[in-house]
Amino acid sequence: MSETEDKIAEAAKKFALKNAFDYGKAQVGTVLNKIFSEVPKAKEIGFPVLKGIVDKAVKEANSLSREAIESEIGKYTFPEHEQREGLPELAWAGEGTSVNTRFAPNPSGYLTIGHSKVAILCDEYSKKYPGKFFVRFEDTDPKTKEPILEAYKLIVEDLEWLGCNIAKVFKQSERLEIYYRYAQKLIESGHAYVCTCSKEEMQNNRREGIGCACRDSSIQDNLDKWEKMGTSFKEGEAVARLKTDMQHPNPSVRDWIMFRIIDKSHPLTGSRYRVWPLYNFAAAIDDHEMDINLVIRGKEHEINSVKQAYLYGALGWKQPNTIEVGIIKASKDFAHKSDIRKAISEGALSGWDDPRAPTVAGFRKRGILPMAIREYVIASGIGKNDSYLDIKKLEAINRDLQKK
Ligand code: GLU
Repeated sequence: MSETEDKIAEAAKKFALKNAFDYGKAQVGTVLNKIFSEVPKAKEIGFPVLKGIVDKAVKEANSLSREAIESEIGKYTFPEHEQREGLPELAWAGEGTSVNTRFAPNPSGYLTIGHSKVAILCDEYSKKYPGKFFVRFEDTDPKTKEPILEAYKLIVEDLEWLGCNIAKVFKQSERLEIYYRYAQKLIESGHAYVCTCSKEEMQNNRREGIGCACRDSSIQDNLDKWEKMGTSFKEGEAVARLKTDMQHPNPSVRDWIMFRIIDKSHPLTGSRYRVWPLYNFAAAIDDHEMDINLVIRGKEHEINSVKQAYLYGALGWKQPNTIEVGIIKASKDFAHKSDIRKAISEGALSGWDDPRAPTVAGFRKRGILPMAIREYVIASGIGKNDSYLDIKKLEAINRDLQKK
């Protein structure tokens, strides 16, 4: 092997490990791109030879366990400037455009590192193109996502600590009259209906792509049934649906549910309301009402943007610009919020703010500066790739900032 080939092999190994660490799997194309900047002479080597070396490194990296990758990667250094790039410009935002964003958490615990990504990106864009950044608590499901009173406060505190410039905090449970007004309007214009079919019947219809009798009933009949949702129907007996497209390739998009009845007291509004909107309805209405022109959310919501487009269409509104971003997973052990909750209940963590917990409060206790988290998140960018938190990189940024 020539000296250049040796250098390429070393660089290929390093970047393949890094790529596998960040995204769970290394890709030949990504590694090749990095080689050219690290070893300029690589251009002089024939492509088949170059690709052969990279293929081998990628294959090796992908065959290693996460633990092995983690220990190998510690032997290398990565250029610092990679962490300092800012966010890309928004093609649709011209001179003087104000970008209004919102962060919409469920009030169900502390902010995790995964959530903080969306919050920081939103806040950052509202600063880059001076506009407003709102916090909007999604708390319209007192049954399966019962809000935790303390969380409303803790999440705002964490966001403030992260340096987010919150223009206003909204709680969806206090906005039901607004949602009802739009529901009424949609029923009156024939875009929505109240469905009293059994769950099984409706599931069948949606799977087959056929509309039920409720879909074709009169507007007056629907208005009467809508009224009854608030009074006499029992939980599970009626839901309000948006007319979308019963033939949509994705069955979950077909006439999705806007409202359902929940007979459980809400920690903020008690038993004042029993007809609660689902996420897609409340989020879309609010994004319009709050003049949000940039929605950033996790890529698991991609299909929800498709669903919401039907609501925007029915109301004659323009759907906001939307970016669905990849998720930062804390680690294999703490990939989900429920993993943290489990570790706490089993005593493996002392609480959400345990310094070992991948929460904003945990990082704070560990001595990580808010600016370090921001820089890390900004460097992770707005692409769709999920990544694992690179704690060594976060700590390196932190050390760097402490020196300043
Ligand atoms: N509550 C949702 C989440 O935390 C919000 C999604 C959105 O931003 O529309 O994922």
